[in-house]
Amino acid sequence: MCALTKIMKYELRYLDGFPDFSAMQNAVWPLQRQTREILNRTIQEAYRWDYFSATKKKETGEYPDLQKETGYKRLDGYIYHVLSPDYPDFSSSGVNATIQKAWKKYKSSKADVWKGEMSLPSYKSDQPIVLHAKQIKLSGDTRAAAATLSLFSNKFKKEHEISGNVQFAITLHDNTQRTIYQKLRNGEYKLSESQLVYDKKKWFLYLAYSFNPAEHALDPEKILGVDMGEKFALYASSFGEYGHFKIEGSEVTEYAKALERRRRSLQQQARYCGEGRIGHGTKTRVGVVYREEDRIANFRSTINHRYSKALIEYAVKNGYGTIQMENLTGIKENLQFPRRLQHWTYYDLQSKIEAKAKEHGIAVVKVNPKHTSQRCSRCGHIAAENRPKQEVFQCVKCGYACNADFNASQNISIKDIEKLIQETIGANPK
Ligand SMILES: [Zn+2]
Repeated sequence: MCALTKIMKYELRYLDGFPDFSAMQNAVWPLQRQTREILNRTIQEAYRWDYFSATKKKETGEYPDLQKETGYKRLDGYIYHVLSPDYPDFSSSGVNATIQKAWKKYKSSKADVWKGEMSLPSYKSDQPIVLHAKQIKLSGDTRAAAATLSLFSNKFKKEHEISGNVQFAITLHDNTQRTIYQKLRNGEYKLSESQLVYDKKKWFLYLAYSFNPAEHALDPEKILGVDMGEKFALYASSFGEYGHFKIEGSEVTEYAKALERRRRSLQQQARYCGEGRIGHGTKTRVGVVYREEDRIANFRSTINHRYSKALIEYAVKNGYGTIQMENLTGIKENLQFPRRLQHWTYYDLQSKIEAKAKEHGIAVVKVNPKHTSQRCSRCGHIAAENRPKQEVFQCVKCGYACNADFNASQNISIKDIEKLIQETIGANPK
């Protein structure tokens, strides 16, 4: 099982390291400004390379060799080489951790950016300062918890004749905060990349910690079948069990549809403006289009996080060691709007379910969804007539009647359902 990483927000009180509190703030604030710069420049450098690379490929038929062009094996290494001289006060681990943060973000959004479905990520002001785990040293105990942060370069420390490692007292507000701090101190939890945040005149440490999740009493033979649809974003049940989990979920598709309509009208305007005109009009309008796209993606992502979290909690609570879901790959290409959009939502939701299932040691099995909505989960009879209405299932053979999504989730939860369906169809070829 893989390690889980979580974050706890701790309030800080300045202790030591600078002549006084305001001297500390005056030294740390520039790092915050520079953090934003480093993040944005990393994205730009990464994009610049990819653009160069794509152009070369077009011209010569071959991608350029990174090492030959830059002298670096990895692009993030090259970016560090380009950026670090401009930030001499910043600790090198800090610069590196900051570059890594933006680099990760760039890699994950790269495909959507190049398809034109998302604008290039950019960071606004007031970015938290990124801290590599080795820049943080915890000390004390739960009565006097403290953290020493090495934020500055040796050069800076020498110039300013200070020890330069900022020492903060950590305020432990409640038991959870105390327990996590204790476990970090005794090594049960491992410190991970964290963030220093200045907010409403206070400093906070978003301490990230990782640990191996406890084994739950999960039975891999207990299978939860998950059906995704328009009326219910998720409908889950296990074969032969009456209990089920469902989330009514039109909110994402409705929101996405509304934004897509707006996007299309804006895109048409943008196109119109673009003809025979050069100027700010085009640029700003296109900007609006991109922001709308990001809003859809963000909204979808937030909602899907919530849905997937609730589903996994249900699975863990009830001991389901396996989740079976519809295999969506291959359907996407020939779908038209709005089904294409809906499909995107499902896809995103599935990948979030998969990620969270993995964290909890739940296996995920994808099954071919063909006939799972027409098959009677009680007697196995497959017929289009079993669905008199979209939301109703009623078997024409045995008379079993229930909610159509419940019936589908029952089928999806059956072990080797694909084989079973194939056998039924083989016995009664149409
Ligand atoms: Zn039946």
